[in-house]
Amino acid sequence: KVERPLDVQEGRLGLPVVGEEQKIMEAIYNNPTVVIWGATGSGKTTQVPQFLYEAGFGSPESLNPGMIGVTQPRRVAAVSMAKRVGDELGGVGERVSYQIRFDSSVSSKTAIKFMTDGILIREIANDFALLKYSVIIIDEAHERSANTDILIGMVSRIVDLRATMSREDEKIKPLKLVIMSATLRITDFLENPNLFRNGTPPLIQAEGRQYPVTTHFVRRTRRDYTEEAFEKVCKGHRKLPPGGMLVFLTGQNEITALAKRLNETLANFQSQSNGHKVRISASEAPLETEDLELGNIAPGFDDFEDDAESDGDSSSRGDDRDFDVEDSTPASSTVHILPLYSQLQTKDQLRVFEPPPENSRLIVLATNVAETSLTIPGIRYVFDCGRAKEKKYDRMTGVQNFDVGWISKASASQRAGRAGRTGPGHCYRLYSSAVYERDFEEYAEPEILRMPVEGVVLQLKSMDLQHVVNFPFPTPPDRQSLAKAEKLLIYLGAVSNEGKITSVGREISNYPLSPRFSKMLMIGHQHGCMPYTIALVASLASLDLFIPKNQLDLSVNVQSEVYTNEDRSADEARSQLKSHYNHAHHLFSRHSPTSDALKGLTALCAYAYAPLREAFCKDMFLSPKALSEASNLCSQLMSIVRSNNPTLLAPNVSLKLPSPSKTQVAALQQFTAAAFIDQIAILASASVSPPDLPRNPTRAIDVPYLPLFPINVKRRADIDMIDIAVFVHPSSVLAHLATKDLPTYIIYSHLQRGTPATIEGAKKPRTR
Ligand code: ADP
Ligand code: MG
Repeated sequence: KVERPLDVQEGRLGLPVVGEEQKIMEAIYNNPTVVIWGATGSGKTTQVPQFLYEAGFGSPESLNPGMIGVTQPRRVAAVSMAKRVGDELGGVGERVSYQIRFDSSVSSKTAIKFMTDGILIREIANDFALLKYSVIIIDEAHERSANTDILIGMVSRIVDLRATMSREDEKIKPLKLVIMSATLRITDFLENPNLFRNGTPPLIQAEGRQYPVTTHFVRRTRRDYTEEAFEKVCKGHRKLPPGGMLVFLTGQNEITALAKRLNETLANFQSQSNGHKVRISASEAPLETEDLELGNIAPGFDDFEDDAESDGDSSSRGDDRDFDVEDSTPASSTVHILPLYSQLQTKDQLRVFEPPPENSRLIVLATNVAETSLTIPGIRYVFDCGRAKEKKYDRMTGVQNFDVGWISKASASQRAGRAGRTGPGHCYRLYSSAVYERDFEEYAEPEILRMPVEGVVLQLKSMDLQHVVNFPFPTPPDRQSLAKAEKLLIYLGAVSNEGKITSVGREISNYPLSPRFSKMLMIGHQHGCMPYTIALVASLASLDLFIPKNQLDLSVNVQSEVYTNEDRSADEARSQLKSHYNHAHHLFSRHSPTSDALKGLTALCAYAYAPLREAFCKDMFLSPKALSEASNLCSQLMSIVRSNNPTLLAPNVSLKLPSPSKTQVAALQQFTAAAFIDQIAILASASVSPPDLPRNPTRAIDVPYLPLFPINVKRRADIDMIDIAVFVHPSSVLAHLATKDLPTYIIYSHLQRGTPATIEGAKKPRTR
């Protein structure tokens, strides 16, 4: 039935996966679950759905009438792969569709459906047995995104369920599960009997078809990798024979900035405008795991102790020689520069698949979107900065953030592989082999271990799963934190006492944030507070907006023995600095003398007004990096709130806000309390059984509080109350109060270990 275009027919013959068609199909017929492992480009994503289609899966009159569902971790992959497979199938191409949030081409004819994993998770909530499907392909499983892991656990259960259902009702067909991976990073959980109850699924390997890629390291790893990328790409463009370039960077801001510079430097013809505007319309405003991408993050790499001498490879050669390639065809004269990152509109992302204008060199500046799922035609040279923006999660503070970090060796090899798809290629690594050997992990940690457990639990609850602790995670988070997270969700009203998701929970799960913050956004429109709530969430989600007092630059030292006039003026300068410092903090605390949360909000809004932001930060003792990140987060939260409910936030709202009213201040404090409802401490002296104190504290920071839900230690009769007490952190606004003015209850965002001076020998957590 399938008549493929001629060039497609020929191209397919060379793909390793096509050579294994029979083996793959036999395995799928004979097993409920099959794992396919093959290098990037071997044909997994494009070919396996076609094998299934040709074998009758997805046609109403066959034994397996349900659709072929294929999940992708990223939207651009779902859309572009649906298009590619549609093209390959020629006349029946219309039977291939995609579905991503806000956009779908699915029709009654659809037999093969590409979708993001987030979409399938939502579908499971409405159709627990996935009756619309005859087979689910979970693609790019090696990336170990949280959604992929959750889907592997969930669909493995649905496979069992469908087997049972089909035994009882012959109209219902069993469901097949195919897991596809570019690396062997998934083998560690395949033997997990909790996950695959009917034994380890068969692993079918398709050898990669790969031209040789020569890898070049630099001798010295520069901290400013965008500068390094700029220089290397310019030089490469002048010296290297024709062929597309793919440059791996970490985020949107870097990409747009580098695109602009390269265009200015390399474009010979001004008229040819490749400049690219970044726009995110509200309707495109994204909401999958890839959504929150903070820009402007300065790399946190302080120093690189490259050991150049020990490098025995190409890294010790001169840089210039790296660009000496045997082929001496003159380089293309113009450049065609395209960005590729997840927040870019889909239609703009798809431009990388179009052939570049004649005689011009395609230069794609990409995030790790281009690492495995996409094949960009014509790429011969890869420039790899070796870093990626990763979701980081601080279990202690509960703060989730994006940070630039080294990629894994596995990722580096995937990136290099992108140069060898169409012919021999070169990969220029913008880091030394010493750094690679020393600092790169073999594989990155699965995402599920890097996110708030309550987010994971809510995701599972949103699929109507009642008993989360029994869930077959490929890599399980620890049971205690799962139970604790479920409690929190109950307190937030997201989950009922019976463990079922509530309507509040469904709404919260629409925000790609930790449930605490999502809850604040959900209730935060009351009393016209929406923009303030957004700023409040952004400031709570950022650490250290304020420069701590002990880091003030008091570098003027008294050195001479006699107290001179210079010393006097240095002393004066110091005391002046301290008084400015206190004044700045006083200003930020003006809306509430007892709330650190509001202080952060005030600083963030003041920053929005500042004409010169750097100078403002310096004058007001703020961290420019933290403020800039928090402002970025605000803009993203605004577009997320608008896309969830456009009526909540006027389109022109910015952070330049008037002072909040008294009512609003009170409301904002209530929203915060609602989100941290499990983190309340009571003044120890006001508790039912006040502890004995060695002496009466005179400073606020020495006054003990008792958490209402005790931390770590179980409340036992033989434990002295003082052992579970917490104290106000010296950086908190509360630290400056007189002890008699301290509030009876405090809500804290996190605890930190430290030793209050007055209680000797004891290690006490401090609250903040
Ligand atoms: P895998 O999923 O194993 O990484 P794919 O199925 O995505 O491999 O791609 C297999 C091959 O199909 C690629 O090596 C490439 O030759 C070709 N291909 C895939 N997508 C495109 C595309 N958009 N344009 C041209 N060729 C493509
Ligand atoms: Mg693929």
